[in-house]
Amino acid sequence: MSVKINTATFSGIEGISITVEIDISMGLPTFNIVGLADTSVKESKERVRAAIINSGFEFPINRITINLAPADIKKDGSLFDLPIAIGILAASKQIYSEDIDKYLFIGELSLSGEIRKIRGALPIIIEGLKNDIKNFIIPTNNRVECSIVKNSCIYPFDNLKQVISFLENEDMLPITINYSNEQENNNSKFDFEDVIGQESSKRAIEVAAAGGHNILLWGPPGSGKSMLASRIPSILPELDYEEALEVTKIYSVSGNLKEEGLAKYRPFRNPHHTSSNISLIGGGRNLAPGEISLSHNGVLFLDEMLEFKKSVLEVLRQPLEDKIVKISRANGNISYPANFMLVGATNPCPCGFYASNTKVCTCTDHEKKLYLSKLSGPLLDRIDIFSFVTSLKYEEFNKKTKSEPSVSIKERIVKAREIQKSRYKNDKLCCNSQMTGNQIDKYCKLDSQSNKLLKVVYTKYNLSNRAYNRLLKLSRTIADLDGREDIQYSDVIEAIQYRKFINENIV
Ligand SMILES: [Zn+2]
Repeated sequence: MSVKINTATFSGIEGISITVEIDISMGLPTFNIVGLADTSVKESKERVRAAIINSGFEFPINRITINLAPADIKKDGSLFDLPIAIGILAASKQIYSEDIDKYLFIGELSLSGEIRKIRGALPIIIEGLKNDIKNFIIPTNNRVECSIVKNSCIYPFDNLKQVISFLENEDMLPITINYSNEQENNNSKFDFEDVIGQESSKRAIEVAAAGGHNILLWGPPGSGKSMLASRIPSILPELDYEEALEVTKIYSVSGNLKEEGLAKYRPFRNPHHTSSNISLIGGGRNLAPGEISLSHNGVLFLDEMLEFKKSVLEVLRQPLEDKIVKISRANGNISYPANFMLVGATNPCPCGFYASNTKVCTCTDHEKKLYLSKLSGPLLDRIDIFSFVTSLKYEEFNKKTKSEPSVSIKERIVKAREIQKSRYKNDKLCCNSQMTGNQIDKYCKLDSQSNKLLKVVYTKYNLSNRAYNRLLKLSRTIADLDGREDIQYSDVIEAIQYRKFINENIV
């Protein structure tokens, strides 16, 4: 007799529907799994056999063939254990369920029949719903992430025995969605009100956050670069449901999901400078998403950016441009979203005190040059704003007052983002940093005074076209923060300030 069971797997953050076909026929006892299953799926034979026996059922002594369809998709992982076991029990008539096809099953089995947590449950549920399956039988430990999907009925179980009893009696109510649109007010544990002074860097960060621009904070050690960076998520707009779902999907397939269900906050990732290409970009044996995808819709903070290996910094170029990362594997590519705001921090030289107002730099010109050479042209070209973070004078940090809280900075940013959203509703972009040639011509018109100024700067510093456009985009964001349609001379002056890097050079 043959039976079909619904299940699914995932590639990247997208689910893929799979049907498990089980055929049991007379003949010498064999147990085969076909349909492009890799070794991790083939190992499931032993787990399924032991789990069935240890749950008090019989393992049929016949010819058992399992087909995972469609056959052209490579399947790996242990999440098919549960559907295979259910299929064998149904095909050997040990369970009686009229409507087994209204469920989708996922879960790894232990030898004793317990159901273990799997990676990627969230994209699987979303895929099931697309195919009109509403009922999901899943491991108990995946229940939080699964219950955030609207219109799904989730049935979580600890072991195989419970699933079988449920299928025969249907004596349990599903868990349904408990997503609410209410957001907590303070979406980060860090707040700008605790940062005393540093007004110009705070303003630069505000402009960066408003227009989705990448920013590099540079200055002497201990000046508070990390303190500033870690507060950026507190001024970014709230995640909407779609964005939150995307973030949660990435954490679901990476196996990093905490017990909080739908992501509430924009991610802030802070990989160490010894990180490898794989941990940053993604890949490895499981083709897991890397830091750049884990910071999707949030912030990727590279502290001590120049301490990262040059090859690691170079691999950031493509995702910074495309907002998506493609990872090659033996049979094709897999891609993950990677739309993050890059925030870097660096000392200006090996000793750290170049341009400092408290100590004297002891580096030679050659040492300084060598140090900065890691920021190659093309990567440097993808940083929009440079902000010098000074060491604070004693009177400044000893002030007892608090600074402006994140929540009021955020208000201005949200307004500026709304202006951009309505401006670009037909352009398929969401913020100023994403503008290209035509849009820059259309939305960044300058008066004659500003035009003259930019012409002088362009010639004097021998700017590239890209660098010139960057000045226009920054000016646009500064005007948006002020709620103005027209770009003024002062906006352009401020934008030029953000392009000044070491030695007052404009890059
Ligand atoms: Zn130095």
